[in-house]
Amino acid sequence: MSTVAAISTPNAAGGIAVIRISGENAINAAASVFRPFGSKKVTEMEGYTCAYGTAYDGDERLDDCILTVFRAPHSYTGEDTAEISCHGGLYVSKRILRAILKNGADNAEAGEFTKRAFLNGKLDLTQAEAVMDIISARGEQELKMAESLREGAAFKKAERCSDKLMKMLGDLAAWADYPDEDTPEVKPENLIAELQVVRDELQSLIANYDCGRIVREGVSAAIIGRPNVGKSTLFNCLSGCERSIVTDIAGTTRDVVEESVKLGDITLRLSDTAGIRETDDIIEGIGVDIAEKILKSSELVIAVFDGSCPLTADDLKLINKIDNKKSVAVVNKSDVGQELDEKQLTEYFKHIVYLSAKENTGVDLLEREIKDIFEINEQTINNVSAANERQKMCIENALRSVNEAIEALSCGELLDAVNVLIDEAEQSILSLTGKKVTNEVVDEVFSRFCVGK
Ligand code: GDP
Repeated sequence: MSTVAAISTPNAAGGIAVIRISGENAINAAASVFRPFGSKKVTEMEGYTCAYGTAYDGDERLDDCILTVFRAPHSYTGEDTAEISCHGGLYVSKRILRAILKNGADNAEAGEFTKRAFLNGKLDLTQAEAVMDIISARGEQELKMAESLREGAAFKKAERCSDKLMKMLGDLAAWADYPDEDTPEVKPENLIAELQVVRDELQSLIANYDCGRIVREGVSAAIIGRPNVGKSTLFNCLSGCERSIVTDIAGTTRDVVEESVKLGDITLRLSDTAGIRETDDIIEGIGVDIAEKILKSSELVIAVFDGSCPLTADDLKLINKIDNKKSVAVVNKSDVGQELDEKQLTEYFKHIVYLSAKENTGVDLLEREIKDIFEINEQTINNVSAANERQKMCIENALRSVNEAIEALSCGELLDAVNVLIDEAEQSILSLTGKKVTNEVVDEVFSRFCVGK
């Protein structure tokens, strides 16, 4: 494999920038731009050692740097790797990279270092994907989940299934090929029992997928309510800035404002909508149309009511539009006297929160309710296994084949047919872990990485 290099730190000015080089020629490439202050030669440096020196482009002095050397296979990629840490200016790090590229290294593609780690057997595919999740984690729960995936929890479970399926395939092959020898008979009832164990394992691998997806990607939520109940104030209170226009003239929010906001451990991808109500105002009417579309496409509806007055006909119309969606009622303006009939609301909502968006009180209760709605808790977070759609699809395919195999056995189908189904399940698991996966899938997985990782 060729030697590649890239700036591994963000494309911005910072305290330090790191240029990473990996491949057979990595140490030589580093040696051609880095001159240590001491007498030791770069090419003679051992793994896990550093040197202080200066980076040059030819004879032009660029910056004082630290060079760290990793020797194969004891590096992130499993190859010889050199990392030059220089001052974090954009210009200087780019100049050093350019000098390295002149000396036998190619530009690394997105995710190429992690791809090499995968190809060199340092990580399986699910762990590599977890690396990307760690990079993009925005909160503690996301990080916790990505870490647990990188530890290989999903991988180990999948491997256990794979081993079991492999053993069944082995038994079936031996029984089919050497029936006269001393091979144990493959009994359908035993096979069913073994397949059921695999099925349960696979099911547990996807059980918490939705919870995991929500922690990672957030919930798409629509704040709805008739005009003036305090939707924009709530939106601003959650997003911490004045993005929506707040006035007390009904119908001022005409467009949809979108923002990702952190509500404790949960990310809400919020849409603040124009108040949904019957309107003759044409421009506002457009906003109301959009609001209804967003209401339909959101996973969660945050229905806001003005607690300082009774429910109105418009409120009730709006409640009817929510249908069977996951929803939470926010009774706003708890800082002023409550006139809204609580009982009436409980007929429609299982989850109700009383808060004051203006005073920013009670907002933490909203987080608690939303977690409750999506069944997000410590336990579900720690047991999340499938990290993305690709992984989920592999597990679902394996599960389908296992279920079909169980059914075929129960109907007394020939073992040959069952063999095919078990083999299909095994292939799906092998593509989950990346042990047998097409180049296209590998390229697709790593193309979502950033350059330098
Ligand atoms: P929207 O039309 O539903 O987006 O409502 P706004 O957010 O524009 O708020 C309408 C009016 O209600 C404004 O005058 C807000 O200051 C006021 N308001 C919003 N939230 C609260 C609250 O929690 N308490 C009180 N007392 N007033 C609020």
